[in-house]
Amino acid sequence: MEPDSATDSATRRILILGGTTEARLLAERLGVRDDITLTVSLAGRTRKPVDVPAMVRSGGFGGAGGLAEYLRTERIDALVDATHPFAAIMSFNAAEAARIAGVPLLALARPAWERQAGDNWREAASVPDAVALLGGTPRRVLVALGRNEARALEAAPQHAYLVRSVDPVEPPLRLEDVRYIEARGPFAEADERRLLEEHRIDAVLAKNSGGDATYGKIAAARALGIEVVLVTRPPRPDVATASSVEEALAWVDGLAPHPTALALRGE
Ligand code: NAP
Repeated sequence: MEPDSATDSATRRILILGGTTEARLLAERLGVRDDITLTVSLAGRTRKPVDVPAMVRSGGFGGAGGLAEYLRTERIDALVDATHPFAAIMSFNAAEAARIAGVPLLALARPAWERQAGDNWREAASVPDAVALLGGTPRRVLVALGRNEARALEAAPQHAYLVRSVDPVEPPLRLEDVRYIEARGPFAEADERRLLEEHRIDAVLAKNSGGDATYGKIAAARALGIEVVLVTRPPRPDVATASSVEEALAWVDGLAPHPTALALRGE
């Protein structure tokens, strides 16, 4: 979709930093509104991103300074950082850019998964640490990491891996025993359970992404008594945060009215 400067002078211009289910859901709600001109920014990592009713731009801004410049030149009125909880660089850039440009910022961040009775979790602060926690004895591991992070598996070639990612892992990993599945969530618990059983998985390697879309593997592992090696979240900037799309919508509605809209209404 192209920007329409003739019709958007009285609308609020919102930029969503995306790449998550929540970003898409928020864009679906805001993109259809007449009082909002919406742009969604993607890093450009996924080959076929899901369509949203908004202008979509792709690729980095060139750090916090580049994003601040973009906020100014595009006259953005509010910024929503709906990037993945593990996209920490972008979140710190967003906080810094919003400060420089004087633009209100909201982080939309789903809460982390909490350990429940029956969970057999071990936690690590990084992907390489998590791979090391799998141990020296060969295991059969379901890997639910980003395709770039999966390269860390090469440090532990003794295991048999089932690697699931949205796009293919290229070049293929230098491992003896690895299979690939290309799939995009959400993943239902029953399907995850079938997958774990079919492949005789005895460990799940994943990030604590939070949210419902990918929780199925955690619940299925609990039901089957399978160990989950979970990468804990990186630190995030201390900014106003919504934990759901509904909360983010309420924040948008609570923003000060656009000055042009006030002028048009004679206020
Ligand atoms: P990151 O490490 O925090 O960011 C690295 C660089 O990528 C940023 O400095 C920025 O480049 C660019 N970037 C990141 N998100 C962007 C966005 N929404 N729009 C424009 N540029 C963006 O991020 P990442 O972990 O590589 O994640 C990249 C994207 O994948 C994000 O949109 C994130 O929501 C999504 N994602 C990440 C994960 C994950 O586990 N990390 C999982 C699912 C989806 P500049 O400095 O040049 O602006």
